[in-house]
Amino acid sequence: MAPMKIERISVFQVDLPLHEGSYNWSGGKSVSVFDSTIVRVETDAGVTGFGEVCPLGPFYLPAYAKGARAGIGELAPHLVGQDPTQLDKLNRLMDAALKGHPYAKSAIDIACWDILGQVCGLPICTLLGGRYGEDFVLYRAISQQTPDQMAAKVADYRDEGYRRFQLKVGGDPDTDIERIQVVADELEPGDVLIADANTGWLKHDAARVVRAVNDVDVYIEQPCDSYEECLSIRRRTSHPFVLDESIDSIEALLRGQADDAMDAVNIKISKLGGLTRARQVRDLCVSVGLAMTIEDSWGGDITTAAIAHLAHSTPTDLLFTSTDFNSYVTVSTAKGAPQRKKGRMAAPTAPGLGISPRMKVLGEPVAVWGGES
Ligand code: MG
Repeated sequence: MAPMKIERISVFQVDLPLHEGSYNWSGGKSVSVFDSTIVRVETDAGVTGFGEVCPLGPFYLPAYAKGARAGIGELAPHLVGQDPTQLDKLNRLMDAALKGHPYAKSAIDIACWDILGQVCGLPICTLLGGRYGEDFVLYRAISQQTPDQMAAKVADYRDEGYRRFQLKVGGDPDTDIERIQVVADELEPGDVLIADANTGWLKHDAARVVRAVNDVDVYIEQPCDSYEECLSIRRRTSHPFVLDESIDSIEALLRGQADDAMDAVNIKISKLGGLTRARQVRDLCVSVGLAMTIEDSWGGDITTAAIAHLAHSTPTDLLFTSTDFNSYVTVSTAKGAPQRKKGRMAAPTAPGLGISPRMKVLGEPVAVWGGES
């Protein structure tokens, strides 16, 4: 078979409003409509792949929606004419063409995995190592509100089937202590509670919070901004400890593992630059027995499908939680995307991502590179 070539790359922009109206986390940060970027990669063989990248606003990770589209614009001219099925080669080419900016590479990488899966006639999940079990476990993020409002949300979401709850803390430490305590009082046997500060506490705040909730069965996620601050808090608490924002590369993971800085890590696909890089980090975590939350910063149906393939191909005992972002937003961008059932989800079984984008929702591309087809 002759090598396949990328013929055209198109970018679409889609607004994703939220069912709850807004999503609030540490430091008063909030988003009401997510700005999502969807990439279409067309080939000379007639196979087309899709990918999505959706930063959590411009003030979460060093990533923003217009930056994703600008970065794709830098990369696309280098990729037209390349073979989309040779993923590691393609990623090296992207790294050579644009230093850093992993999130800008993510949607392209996902679209090329979608193509590879279609060419092979296999779901991405299989290509990433195999499908573990019927489905996998999800968490529900509880947007930052008053302690009582958050406790009520936990009860509501348990009724929908979720049993793992990630509280958005990282605000005023006294209120955060109350948030954790009030919610913990509402938990039922089998529920799992995670307090995610999303880098929001100073070290002395974090020290007070972890001591005040010492008797609560709660995971502490990314209390402070820097790795060093988190490590300091990690060394003075007995709570199970998750690192997220600090784990943005293989180097960061290796350092964290060497320092025993965490019990679990949060792998966000776009934070690492796509499925190719996220899989490398995932496989390293499997090798050393480190549990993982597998997700992305945000997204709709296409991101949720990509998450599902990576999560479902992760050994069940090492998958701490995952996310179904498409149930948080009011707009569906693709048919065939995975749907949550009783707090769990499964990767599609059709080849590639196993989804088919709703082109009327995507509208006209905002940018196109390569030839007409
Ligand atoms: Mg987190």
